This record gives sequence, structure tokens and C-alpha cells, in this order.
Amino acid sequence: MSKEYAGGWGALKSSMKFMQREAFAKSAKTLFKMNQPKGFDCPGCAWPDPKETSMSEFCENGVKALTYETTKKRASSATFMNHTVTEMQSWSDFKLEDQGRLTEPFVYNDLSDKYEPISWDDAFAIIAKELKALDNPDEALFYTSGRTSNEAAFLYQLMGRMYGTNNFPDCSNLCHESTGVGMGESVGIGKGTVLLDDFEKADAIYVFGQNPGTNHPRMLAELQTAAKRGCKILSFNPLVEAGLKGFIHPQDPVGMGLNKVSPISSHYYQPLIGGDLAAIRGMIKHLFESGVKLDEAFIEEHCSGFDEYKALVESVSWEEILRESGLPKAQIIEAAEVYANSDRVIACWAMGLTQHRHGVANIQEVINLLLLKGNIGREGAGACPVRGHSNVQGDRTVGITEFPKEDFLVKLEQEFDFTAPRKHGLSAVHAIEAMEKGEAKVFVGMGGNFASATPDTEKTFKAMQSCELTVHVSTHLNRSHVIHGKKALILPCIGRSEKDLQASGLQSVTVEDSMSMVHASTGSNEPASTSLKSEPAIVAGISKALFGSEKVDWDGLIANYANIRNKIEAVIPGFDQYNKKIQVPGGFHLRNSARLREWKTATDKARFISNELPAHNLEEGQLRLMTMRSHDQYNTTIYGMDDRYRGIKNERKVIFLNETDMKNFGLTESDSVRITSYASDGVQRSVEGFRPVKYDIPQNCAGAYFPETNPLVGLSDHAKRSFTPMSKFIVVRLEKL
Ligand code: SF4
Repeated sequence: MSKEYAGGWGALKSSMKFMQREAFAKSAKTLFKMNQPKGFDCPGCAWPDPKETSMSEFCENGVKALTYETTKKRASSATFMNHTVTEMQSWSDFKLEDQGRLTEPFVYNDLSDKYEPISWDDAFAIIAKELKALDNPDEALFYTSGRTSNEAAFLYQLMGRMYGTNNFPDCSNLCHESTGVGMGESVGIGKGTVLLDDFEKADAIYVFGQNPGTNHPRMLAELQTAAKRGCKILSFNPLVEAGLKGFIHPQDPVGMGLNKVSPISSHYYQPLIGGDLAAIRGMIKHLFESGVKLDEAFIEEHCSGFDEYKALVESVSWEEILRESGLPKAQIIEAAEVYANSDRVIACWAMGLTQHRHGVANIQEVINLLLLKGNIGREGAGACPVRGHSNVQGDRTVGITEFPKEDFLVKLEQEFDFTAPRKHGLSAVHAIEAMEKGEAKVFVGMGGNFASATPDTEKTFKAMQSCELTVHVSTHLNRSHVIHGKKALILPCIGRSEKDLQASGLQSVTVEDSMSMVHASTGSNEPASTSLKSEPAIVAGISKALFGSEKVDWDGLIANYANIRNKIEAVIPGFDQYNKKIQVPGGFHLRNSARLREWKTATDKARFISNELPAHNLEEGQLRLMTMRSHDQYNTTIYGMDDRYRGIKNERKVIFLNETDMKNFGLTESDSVRITSYASDGVQRSVEGFRPVKYDIPQNCAGAYFPETNPLVGLSDHAKRSFTPMSKFIVVRLEKL
């Protein structure tokens, strides 16, 4: 059963508990530097900071992310000496990361089956040797997680391209790739078009497939303020989530003192999993049928494809819409009427829309809805995809992509005097396939936890284990280190809150949030160990070992990161006066063409894109399962075993089910079930030992945590055109054990 609200004393207590468990004193002091103009950026999600920051700009998740980084626990040589890697493979994800901060570089010794210390120079030499030994540069994979700063990511892509490949799978492939592809085709840019100020002016905010209470908690403050001034907030989520119902801002003394809950959603709709496209199409059908006044001047001047799209919508029957969405017609009409009566509308979304076979079509339907009343490119309105990792958007901006644009490559070549590869590289799903077939042999991971973040766990594990070399740049021990290649290295790096000292002194890095604000982040804590290096310094170290310094002065770039930013400015549009602009508190906004109503699309207009309504035909007894995070979780990092808002304590192997489904299946909350999935490749995959939990979720739908249920997602089950794994739509059956 979900709680009635997020935040409040529960959030405060949970934050305190977590800080006490790890390293209270350091975390408490450091917290007040997080998300501050001269401080460091929260390593958590990518929600933007307000222009005027208060003393405490953090949420419960931010506290957890920081205490996780400032923990006193250490994964040192003693840890590795006492445990073989085979033994560590049996540990839970929580136990692995709970060993604490990695203290020095480690290399895997297959004779002892243990990780052992190695010098940085020797580690770099091994990587260079293995890369040079490959027959073809496309046999190497350079994965990036969204924590990587602009500076590190830019150097990393330079290294990969100088080496000769565009194989840059990244965490974006696993989450918002459908947004990038969908918005790119529709409005010419794969990024959100709103700024934080727009939330203060919107009349209605639609929240599709997103759970901000757990995944982007500070967004609730914005929604709370909007709701208080009468803005309508319409949430579409199969599960009832506490943060979408109500909120007590833990930093509001009055609300906390009175325990006063602010309602968040004015309207809450629970479509079937995978039913959002049908729900939005139903709203649009109603707008057409009822003759609501659209923004005809905007459509005429700025859009293409309207007539064709209108004809498509008219051809879809209400019967199909109701069957696919799972919502009553009255609710769809109600949501459409709010849209019709609102001058300024924002649409937000997250993985609930992107991780479906029709993920790209979902995004394009949201854009179609916004275009009907000119809700892109004006104040108080726009598209707001909310990113889950602090710099996942910035990494793409500075070149982490498997399909780089020609202009970018030309500029890169001019600046660094080399010939960049033109062949498109591999996304995350394709990278796993390539490793599995023996076509990719060296995997380098810049942060993240590839083995736990990806679908089809068994296949992914085998793929990684078949590599000649796996390398991971990390702060903590994780699953990807113990599921390793024939040779394996762990390279420990400093965290966001820690001082990054280079030859010219203390360095700042830069990041880009979900709303394209680029700003500096400067750590102030002593690093967890004197043997750590920064991510940019690690990339430079590998590059020097690989290429020498003839073409690129790697040491000079690392001596002062302003030099890296000068190179970014020279190569990527929008970064003029980069070093100067990041001196301004809050940083600067990167030019967003769609916000300015410049449409860089195939028709030079904003495009209404006509996608067929998908038909989901499940057999009797099959369920639609979506994977999700618990509240004690950040991406693949498990901070604890509770999910406070959903009423779960000290366990993770649960499956949330509708009460009637439980009765029909003859299940109680004390049973244990096997979950078997039916992937499109015909292979049946199972996980077992999951406890059924009654929850407010539509019939024939279910939810469970990842990474525990990642093994159920077939590698071939991904979104059309974006290849985002279908982690939100897994067809399963349950079997009582
Ligand atoms: S909302 Fe996101 S960025 Fe902000 S403190 Fe919380 S986790 Fe960090």
C-alpha cells in the first residue's frame, strides 16, 4: 500500500539514519555545499537548481548519494585479499557496494582468483597493449555513465575516436534514447525545451510515466508550488505513487511543524502499462471531435504533417483507445478538457514512456499534443523529459554518441589533426550482442555498472566474461567488477564532492542538467584515498599510453581543465566563452533551437508524426510487468533494503500485484512465486522467490525492482528505432512455488 505523501519527517529520519550509518560529520558539513554556486553538483539526478539557491538545496536522495560517496568504509587491498572474486559473485549488489570506496587500482589475477593492487602506469600500459593488439578498432567498446563530467566525457570520446571507433554505448541508450530519437524527428532536438521558470507560469503540468518522489525528489517542490497557485497537475502512472499524491517539503518549517500535506496531483489516472499512447491519442481525438480551438496560426506557420495526423486520429476508434489505454472514456475526456482550457501546458515524462516497444511513438504523441496549441517555444509551456543521472545530457552534448554528426567530426578533426571514423558505432544493446559474438573484445566503462544496468542479465554476463579485457573506472565495488573479462582492471576515481587537484591547482568540472543549464562543480572534501585519480586524468593516462603526446598535449589539458573547456568551445556550438560563463552563479543556458521555434527537422518545421496505435495482445494469465526502483535505490546503486513510500521493509524480491489478480491466481502475500517472461526471441527466462504484494495497480499489470528482474528482459525486446530495452513492458506469467 502506498503512503499518502512523500517527504516530511519520514524523509528527514531516513536521511539522518543513512548519514549515521555512513559518516555523519563529513556528510553534514558537505551537504550545504551541494548544488550551491561555489559548491559541487549532486551526483544524483539531473533536476536543475533554482536561480536563487537556498542554504539547503538537496533532497533525501541527494543526502544518500553524498553519504554513499563520503562513507568511511573502504574497499581496499585487504578487502580483496580476503575474498576471491568467485566468492564476491555470490554477494548481493548491496553488499558489493557496501564495501565502501575503492582505494587504489586493482588488476585481476586468474591464478589466485583475486584482485590485486597495480600501479597506475602499469594499468594504463595493459589497456594500451590490449587495444593495440585488436585487429580492428571497432572491437573496443567505450561505455559512459551519466556521472561523467563534460571535461572527462569530451576527452574520452576524443580518445575513442582517435583510436578509430564510434563505439560509445552509454546509459542514455538504456533510458532516454527514445526521447532523443522521438524529439529529434519531431522538433529537431532531443532535449527538453523548458526552464525552471516555466513551471511558475504553466496552467497545467502533465506528468507521464514518472515517479518524481523517488527519482527526482526536488521536482516535487516545483510541483507543490505550482499546485498551490492553482496549476492543474495531471499524473498518468499505472501505480499510485506517494510523491504524486502529496508532499511535505522537509525544508518547510511550517509544513513540517503542522505535518501539513500539500496535494500534488489534481488528477490521477492509472492507464495500463503501455497504455499512455492510447490515452494521449484519446485526448487528442476528443479535442478534434469537440471542435476545441487549436493554435491554427502556429500549426500553419510552424508545423508539417497536421492533416495526415488528424486523419489518422479520426480513423482510430474509441473502442481501440479504451482497450489499449485501460482508462474510462470520461477520464480521457476530463484530461483533454484540462488541456483545452489551459493556455500554457508543460508535459514531463521519464522511463514510463521510453522503455517500450513503441517508446519513440510515445514521445512523439506527447509532442503532437503540445503542438496542437503551440505549447512549445513560449513561456510556461514545453516538453520536459526528466533525466535520471546528473550529467547524462551533457555527455551527449560533448560527443558521447554512437552516431556523431558530420559537422562535429569535422571540427574535432580540425582541432586535433586526425581522421575520425565515420562508421556508426554500437549502442548498449548492440554492444552486448557484439561481445557475445566475439566481435567486441575490450570493454572500458567510464563509471556506472554495466552488468547490472543492462537487460538480459545472463546474456550480458556471458558477453562481458568473453572479453579479453574489462576496465571499469569507479568509486565503489560493483557487479561489473566481479563479472569480468579474461583480464580485468578496476580504476578508482575521485567523487564529485572531493577536491580535484592538478598542476595549476584546484579544478572544477562542468555538467548540464535536464534543462540544458551548464554549470561548474567544485569538490572540497579530501579524496577517499591519496591514490585516486580524477576521471579526466584517467582518460589522459590511458591516451598517453596509447598514442603518446605528439598530437595532443594530454598533460597540458589535465594541468588546467580550462584548457579542455577551450577545446570543447572550439569544437561544439553553444560553448562560446565557456570558461567565463561558468563563473556566473548557476552557469549558462545552452541554446535550444526548439525553444526558439527553430525546427531542425526533415521538413524544417515541427512535425506531427503519425504513428499507428500499438495493439497489445496478451494471452489469458499473462501480465505486463514493469521494472522500477525502490526508494532506497539510485539507478543500480542499492542504498538500503526498504521502499518506504510503497510500504516495503527490508526486502527487494517482491512483485506488486492488483488484489483481484492475486485472488484469481490464488496468491497471498506469504507465497513465493516464479516469474517467467515471454520475450520476442521465443526464449523463456525466469527468476524466482518473489513475494506477491497487493498494490494499487491496474489488473493484468505488475511491478518489481531492477536489477533483480533485469534477467527477464530479452535483449531483442527494445524500442523500435531507439533500441531502448523494454524494461517497462515485460510479458510474464507467475507460478506459485
Ligand atoms: S533532486 Fe536530484 S539533483 Fe537534487 S538533490 Fe535530489 S537527487 Fe540530487
